[in-house]
Amino acid sequence: MSDLEYSVLVDFYEKIEATSSRLTMTDLLVSLFRRTPPEVMDKVVYLTRGTLGPDYEAPELGVAEKLTIRAVAQALGLNVRDVEAAYKKRGDIGLAAEELMEKVKPATILDFFTSAETVSKKRLTVGGVYDLLLKIAKASGPGAQETKISTLVSLLKYAQPKEARYLLRTVTGKLRLGVADMTILDALAVSFIGSRSARSFIERAYNVHPDLGYIAKLVAERGVEGIKEVKIRVGVPVKPMLAERLSDPAEIIEKLGGSCLVEYKYDGERVQAHKRGSEVFLFSRRLENITNHYPDVVEMIRQYVKAEEVILEGEVVALNPDTGEMLPFQDLMHRRRKYEVEEAMEKYPAAVFLFDILYLDGRGLIDDPLPERRRQLEDVVEESERLKLAKSEIVKTPEELIKFFEEAVSEGCEGVMCKSLSNDSIYQMGARGWLWVKFKRDYRYEMTDTVDLVVVGAFYGKGKRAGTYGALLMAAYSPEEDVFKTVCKVGSGFSDDDLAQLPKLLEPYRIGHRHPRVVSRMEADVWFTPFIVLEVIGAEITLSPLHTCALGRVKPEAGLAIRFPRFTGRYRTDKKPEDATTEEEIVEMFKLQRRVSEPVASVSETS
Ligand code: AMP
Repeated sequence: MSDLEYSVLVDFYEKIEATSSRLTMTDLLVSLFRRTPPEVMDKVVYLTRGTLGPDYEAPELGVAEKLTIRAVAQALGLNVRDVEAAYKKRGDIGLAAEELMEKVKPATILDFFTSAETVSKKRLTVGGVYDLLLKIAKASGPGAQETKISTLVSLLKYAQPKEARYLLRTVTGKLRLGVADMTILDALAVSFIGSRSARSFIERAYNVHPDLGYIAKLVAERGVEGIKEVKIRVGVPVKPMLAERLSDPAEIIEKLGGSCLVEYKYDGERVQAHKRGSEVFLFSRRLENITNHYPDVVEMIRQYVKAEEVILEGEVVALNPDTGEMLPFQDLMHRRRKYEVEEAMEKYPAAVFLFDILYLDGRGLIDDPLPERRRQLEDVVEESERLKLAKSEIVKTPEELIKFFEEAVSEGCEGVMCKSLSNDSIYQMGARGWLWVKFKRDYRYEMTDTVDLVVVGAFYGKGKRAGTYGALLMAAYSPEEDVFKTVCKVGSGFSDDDLAQLPKLLEPYRIGHRHPRVVSRMEADVWFTPFIVLEVIGAEITLSPLHTCALGRVKPEAGLAIRFPRFTGRYRTDKKPEDATTEEEIVEMFKLQRRVSEPVASVSETS
C-alpha cells in the first residue's frame, strides 16, 4: 500500500503554521493533497485536524504532558529532570523535544540501529504514525500508562527532531494548526474537482456524513462520482439545522410567509437519535456520541418509536421526578458526568421532546417540506409520559405567536421556535437559515420577594410521590371580586415530611369540584376549599395564558404566573386565605421586578 512520509506532512505543517492567509493555507493543502496517495488521504486529513477520526467516533488524544516527558527522557536516554527543565523553558513539549533531539540524537540513534543505512529506511510514515497514535489513544485499563509511554517511545526513536515536535503536539491534543474544516473542503474541491466553486457540492456530502477523512478519501479515489453516492444513514450523525433569530413577532410571521409552525423551545440538550432495530445511538449538537449519558432516552426510543430504521431529532430536558415539571438546563448537566449516570438518572430523569425526522426505513426525508416530515414524525412516534412531540401550533398573527410564547416561557421554556411550512421548508443541514427562526427573551426578571399563596387544588404525584400530591395549584386573592385566582403549580421545595403530611393536612378541605370562589383555567386532579396558605418563592413573574391571576390586567388574554416556583418550607398558619398575597400585589411585583440581562437559560433554581 502506498503511504506518505511523515516528514513530508510535517514540512507542510511548518509552512501552514507560518501563514496567516487562508488562501495560502488552501494552496498549501492543495499541494499536500496532490502529493498524498489516495489510500492515506483520510489519515492525512485526520492528523492535520489533530484527530484520529470523526468527532463522533474517534478515540480522543490528549496524553498528559507528564507522560510525554517520561517518554522523551526514555527515548533519548536522558534524565526526566533535564526534559522537564527544557519543557519549562519552552512551554511546549514539542519544541523542547525537538531541541533536545538536535543535541543528543546522533549518539542515541546509532545506539539504537545497527547502521546508518537502517536509519534511512526506518522513516516514519503517515500510516505508521496513525496506527501507533490510535494504539496510544485506545490504551485503557491497568497498564494503559505503560502502553502509552512505550508506544510513544518507539515513535520518538524513529522520529526526526521536527517530526518529534509535531508528534508530541498531536499526542497531547495540542496540534492546533488552525485549519478550519471549510478550508479543507476548499482544498479538496480544488485538488480533486478542479475548482473552489465545487466546495458546496462536497460540503453537502460532508453535512450528510461529517467525517472529513472519509469524504477526502472518497473524492481522492473516485472524484465527483464518489461524492454523489454519499447518503444519509443510520449511525452517522448529520450536521444539524440551525435557526436565525428575530425579536419582533410580526417580522417573524412576515418572514415565514404569513403563517408558521411555532413550537416550544425547550431548554435542554439537542439530541439526534438514530435507531436501527433495537440499537440506538444518540448524538449531541456537536456530533459527539452521547448515548451513554441517557440510557433512559435510549430505552424510550427503543420502546416508543415504531420504525425499523429511523433518525429523529429532539430536545432532552431534565424533569423533577416527583412532579414531572421541567427543570432548568443546569440540572440536565448532571447527566454529562462520565460516572454516576445511574444516580443522576434517578435524580434527574429525562424527557425527550421530538421535533424532526430525517430518515425513515430506507428513505432520507431531509428534502421533504416540514409539514410532510411532521406527519411522518407523528406516525412513527407513540407518545408516552416522557417521550413526546414538541408542543406546537400553527399561528397566523403576532398575537397568537406571543400568546404561545408566553405560555412556553411560563412553563419553563426559553422561548419558541418558529418554522416555515412552505413547500421549500426542507431540513437545511449545517446551515443557519430563515426557515427556522428562534424567538427568545434577551432579558429576564428576578423575583426577590416571597409570596403567600392559597392551596386551591392538587395534582397526583408520580414516582416517589405516588400516593401523595406531586404539585399544588396555588392562587392569589382578589379582594375586589372576593375570589382566588391561580398563579402557579408548585411541586418543588417540599421535604419528605411535608409530602407525608400534605394529604392529611389538606383532607378536611377536599371537595369534589372546583370551589366557586376559585377562578382557574387548569383542571386539577383534586380541588380544595381555599384555606391553607403557603409561602412560595420563584425565579420571576412572567406573563402566562395558563393562569387567571391578573388576567387581562397587564395584557389582553395573558395572566401572570410564577416561573420555577418553590415552597420555602413556611406554612403560614397565621394567615387566613383572605390574608394571602393579592392579585394587585402580584401585578405590582411584576412591574417592579428587577430586569437582569441575559441569559434566560441561567435561571438558577434547583428543586
Ligand atoms: P440556540 O441554541 O439558541 O441557537 O437555539 C437552537 C437550539 O434550540 C437547538 O439546537 C435545539 O437544541 C433547541 N431547541 C429546543 N426546542 C426546539 C425545537 N422545538 N425545534 C428546534 N430546536 C429546538
